[in-house]
Amino acid sequence: MAPENPQIFTIGIDLGGTNLRIAAYTPDIGILNSIALPTRLEAGPQAVVDDMCAAIRELIAQFSKTHQLAGVGVGSPGPLELPAGRLHHPPNLPGWDGFHLLAEMEKRLRMPVAVESDANLAALAEYTLGLGRDLGVESLCMLTLGTGVGNGIVLDGKLWHGATGMGGEAGHMTIEPEGPVCGCGNWGCLEVCASATALVSAAERLIAAGNAPGLAELKDGRASLTALGLAQAARQGDPDAQDVYARTGRALGIGLAGLINILNLPLYVVGGGVAESWNLLAPSLFDELERRSYVYRLTAPGRAASAGMPAGGTQVLPARLGTEAGLLGACLLPLHLSRTALATQAPLSAPGQRASLQPL
Ligand SMILES: [Zn+2]
Repeated sequence: MAPENPQIFTIGIDLGGTNLRIAAYTPDIGILNSIALPTRLEAGPQAVVDDMCAAIRELIAQFSKTHQLAGVGVGSPGPLELPAGRLHHPPNLPGWDGFHLLAEMEKRLRMPVAVESDANLAALAEYTLGLGRDLGVESLCMLTLGTGVGNGIVLDGKLWHGATGMGGEAGHMTIEPEGPVCGCGNWGCLEVCASATALVSAAERLIAAGNAPGLAELKDGRASLTALGLAQAARQGDPDAQDVYARTGRALGIGLAGLINILNLPLYVVGGGVAESWNLLAPSLFDELERRSYVYRLTAPGRAASAGMPAGGTQVLPARLGTEAGLLGACLLPLHLSRTALATQAPLSAPGQRASLQPL
């Protein structure tokens, strides 16, 4: 079934540690309807999957009279093993270690389901409907700055999975060897240097050291600071808030410089709430790219080796799609798989099984 056919629809699910979002989607209209539910973590994974499947059946019942279902896509926090669709110690889903998300969903729904990490789906959405489409590129690397730092990589039109579905974990590249401890067990990962959580922690450390009177005043009477509050303070001229953003931009620039040197893609996208303060991050970010990546220096827009690049040079930009990117990506996943399966003449199967994605 061609994705352009207006009679088809897909169901996408964004499984988060706090909320479940389930949407019905058509390529010509977009999201037709959506359901939001709390994620009942205390009830355990079986109960949460029951909730997800009940909402999926509700949307199928609503739209199957007028449309044909083309597939169900699920975005899950990682680490997610593919093609097995099994979770391994997901920090945002406590109690789900070893849970066979894919098998449990297919058992209930009695149909094929596609699962993918939520960061990969945000990258897929940005590739299909956001900057990837606008700039006409076939490859991109996306970092999503939120509670952690998610990463998804699209290479030549396909999501990169690596051997076990765990490729694209750039959030756990080491940026500062002696930096703060990360949930993955390492120290100084990009995630603990450039996420929204890291940004707030850096401000809290400055306040605790007695070095940031403006931030101490901002926090006065509040349980905690927010990245948004710090951005407002930075725009109003608070030097410590500006410094926290500059350091975040620097960490991001160090990470992106490595990615640019390795991948040489036409587009790197930074998404998530923190990326909305792009102007505060950009100066130190681009300083680091110029300093640390000779590939960037050669291929930035207008430079010597940029002429043949589809986007006019190595583009590093804030995401076009907002907080719906993960849910949209889940809706797009069945269409993406059917398109790539047709392109490779391989049978439609779970993600990660397409032989053309695997390195020789
Ligand atoms: Zn880490």
